[in-house]
Amino acid sequence: MTNRVYNFSAGPAMLPTPVMQKIQEEFLNYQGLGVSIVEISHRLPVFREILDAAESLFRELVGLPKNYRVLFMHGGAQMQFSAVPLNLMARSTHKGSYFITGRWGTLAEKEARRYGKTEVLMDGKEFDYRQIPEYDIGRLDQDTTSYAHLTSNNTLYGTRWQTFPQTGNVPLVVDATSDILSREMNYSLFGVVYAGLQKNLGTSGTGLVIVREDLLGNALPETPKLMNYALIDEQHSIPNTINVFAVYVMRLVLEWVKEQGGVPEMEKLAEQKSGLLYEVLDQSEFYRAVAHPEHRSTTNVTFHFSHEKLLEKFLAEADKEGLFALKGHASVGGARASLYNAMPLEGVEVLAQFMKEFERKNG
Ligand code: PMP
Repeated sequence: MTNRVYNFSAGPAMLPTPVMQKIQEEFLNYQGLGVSIVEISHRLPVFREILDAAESLFRELVGLPKNYRVLFMHGGAQMQFSAVPLNLMARSTHKGSYFITGRWGTLAEKEARRYGKTEVLMDGKEFDYRQIPEYDIGRLDQDTTSYAHLTSNNTLYGTRWQTFPQTGNVPLVVDATSDILSREMNYSLFGVVYAGLQKNLGTSGTGLVIVREDLLGNALPETPKLMNYALIDEQHSIPNTINVFAVYVMRLVLEWVKEQGGVPEMEKLAEQKSGLLYEVLDQSEFYRAVAHPEHRSTTNVTFHFSHEKLLEKFLAEADKEGLFALKGHASVGGARASLYNAMPLEGVEVLAQFMKEFERKNG
């Protein structure tokens, strides 16, 4: 494994090196079967074992209460922008309420309009999504709201909810794509939690969906078979050919997280890593952090330069130092360092040092 760089990609993101080595080792011949994991039937017991292990490891790592189901679904995170309303709108008066704190929430709300009414409880647009604005939870009507939706961590802007709103009887749906397993969360607060696997859980294209069991069975009649939570639950996530490779990688990633000390350890590490970069930003007039200090993410650190033209130079020099994929999202500009679980502390130390040096030379 030579020539590996520190990969700050927002997603698909870096995987732990031992996980990739294991994949490489096992790829041609999975556990003596003489075939690859991507060459076997998803219906064989050997794959079922992998799926069950991935589920039980996830349950263990997050302390998932028994009354929640774990589903694997096609289509990454965005497919859930449609699956959530399709499965939950009919719980009540076909109204989904949205807390919008960035682009992903905006897209989720827009998609939900296809299937019912939506209500925007809060929108951070006026703050350019640099903070999570105040909101009036009293506006959430307990009797007429099918669900409330938020994005726990805003991958593009680098903000996150530090604590979650109390939504009473209205199930809270959380898009946790960019912070799942990087912070402790009390899942019993939530009705549904979903995440694309490509950041802290493995590879892209598949979504992990956690559903409280009393919410199953409300799907709208037009819900496609492959998006119906109750049906997927009944068929143990295999209504058709599942992405066997994604589930296999996720199991290896979860084993690695467990070996590292689990979610509390990942949380501590994320705070340490992001803390190093925020310290550089806070001491500088040269860089400008995007996110308001009270709402900073520990997994996506975003910043601009005092002169935006320095960005290209920064990225080019960073690349030469083996600091990869630091360009911010096009809609935000500037730079972004994504620090998911697989990013080692050393990588962030190198980046922090590089940033200080770059400022010294160009400030
Ligand atoms: N939600 C969040 C919070 C994300 O960060 C992303 C992708 N970066 C998505 C949704 C969309 O994920 P996907 O491409 O898997 O649909």
